[in-house]
Amino acid sequence: MWLSGRLTRAALQPLARSPETALASVSASVSGSGSGSSQPSRGYADHVIPDRLADVPTSANPKFFDMVEYFFHRACQVVEEQLVQDMKGRMSVEDKKKKVKGILMLMQPCDHIIEIQFPLRRDSGDYEMIQGYRAQHSSHRTPTKGGIRFSLDVCRDEVKALSALMTFKCACVDVPFGGAKAGIRINPKVYSEHELEKITRRFTLELAKKGFIGPGIDVPAPDMGTGEREMSWIADTYAKTVGYNDINAHACVTGKPINQGGIHGRVSATGRGVFHGLENFINEANYMSMIGTTPGWGGKTFIVQGFGNVGLHTCRYLHRAGATCIGIIEHDGSIMNPDGIDPKALEDYRNEHQTIVGFPGAKPYEGENLMYEKCDIFIPAAIEQVIHKENAHKIQAKIIAEAANGPTTPAADSILIERNILVIPDLYINAGGVTVSFFEWLKNLNHVSYGRLTFKYERESNYHLLESVQESLERRFGRVGGRIPVTPSESFQKRISGASEKDIVHSGLDYTMERSARAIMKTAIKFNLGLDLRTAAYVNSIEKIFTTYSEAGLAF
Ligand code: NAD
Repeated sequence: MWLSGRLTRAALQPLARSPETALASVSASVSGSGSGSSQPSRGYADHVIPDRLADVPTSANPKFFDMVEYFFHRACQVVEEQLVQDMKGRMSVEDKKKKVKGILMLMQPCDHIIEIQFPLRRDSGDYEMIQGYRAQHSSHRTPTKGGIRFSLDVCRDEVKALSALMTFKCACVDVPFGGAKAGIRINPKVYSEHELEKITRRFTLELAKKGFIGPGIDVPAPDMGTGEREMSWIADTYAKTVGYNDINAHACVTGKPINQGGIHGRVSATGRGVFHGLENFINEANYMSMIGTTPGWGGKTFIVQGFGNVGLHTCRYLHRAGATCIGIIEHDGSIMNPDGIDPKALEDYRNEHQTIVGFPGAKPYEGENLMYEKCDIFIPAAIEQVIHKENAHKIQAKIIAEAANGPTTPAADSILIERNILVIPDLYINAGGVTVSFFEWLKNLNHVSYGRLTFKYERESNYHLLESVQESLERRFGRVGGRIPVTPSESFQKRISGASEKDIVHSGLDYTMERSARAIMKTAIKFNLGLDLRTAAYVNSIEKIFTTYSEAGLAF
């Protein structure tokens, strides 16, 4: 809604095109064939996608890091010429082109990656070797930031790809960090709590010894298979060893429990961000008409893959907004109920039974794959590359919200765009977690919770204001018939005490998602990208990272 209010009518026009026209221009810019276009800012013929990525756009099973690199280059094709045009300074066009190419080259590789092996003595007395990684993709801003996951799929390629995504994600939502990611190659479900604590603490020590963790260096957070408990072990290990004399030691990790320096709203932040991210597009009549649906949540149905931290909270917020969850896919089974699944009841059931299978509020799904069923929104919130070349044509959802990182391969992405499906990309829609992690990090550096200093003062000021209005009215109209009551409205009463930490976190997150959505839409319009929001989001990130490098200087 705000889009219509803030962009000019002329700027809005490209969005009002028919889907066919929009898609035609999407494919033109994606294939880089826009060099002869009358719009100078589209399709830069000079940007060459490296040969090693030649198969990625058609591959059924590309490497994850190659996927991220490919998406990056696809966006470079759109924006490189613009970067040259916008570059300030007394340089020849040739030198500007060289500098732009140099900076774009700098953005591709992973700056540092560490592979760690250490032994674990299990409760049984047996020994085994544990393998872990941390990748720091870009130090254009420090600290670097990114989750730590426990999963058997963890490998070098995966952490590299996830760290690169974090770089672009942070830039997309204006979180001033470089990207990083860690993973330990274990199935956390087969270890006792004591064993997991030993693994987490030892991994932290190894990172600390090699300079891969610290409040100003590199700050992990939760991801698949980890949560507050693991973050609290990390903070404690760091603070009691290498960080013992650092007053900011607890800012070495985010996603901690509140009494360890965590922040209200972090656990549900990614899901809440997915909700805000979706809402910004769902309320946009132009986008909804491009995909043949109507704006608003009412009557919309959704299916979620993965009922973990992100999936569960996404369900809660969408359900609260009025959408209906008709199916959930988990690794051990899927459930469906066309009349709606109650997320809270399902959460209680899962907490008791450690599975969603058998939930009485839905039926087991017995078709080919629940993600191919008809719904308005499909939300992959589990693992990467679940939508690929072989199955993208089976998806019936109108919108895909990439709550997971990297759920769509480039081949699938093109198929989905061709089929007029709106893909809201991971680097934007799941950025709620890192946004609130940023707020937690700031809170730790400030050593005071949000609102603590102003809460009482604001409440008293507001009561003084009401009293002052009352006195003014009484001076003017007198007190005949008694005092003139000036009472706060229900909504003002709720805010009379000023903002609590939770209020500040929620509104900061909402604002971040709204501002970034507006920027993505603007870029999609500027470069005629139609439904290709992923390229628009990458373009925005590239422009910001580019400016940082450009202004700071490229090399020593
Ligand atoms: P989680 O471990 O809490 O939940 C993942 C869920 O997915 C689990 O319930 C698991 O059983 C299920 N799952 C695993 N494989 C599956 C499969 N093949 N099919 C269906 N379900 C499967 O993890 P999470 O923190 O919710 O993360 C989920 C995704 O969101 C990941 O891609 C992660 O990188 C991304 N993400 C997480 C955060 C965060 O703050 N936790 C932030 C941004 C992005």
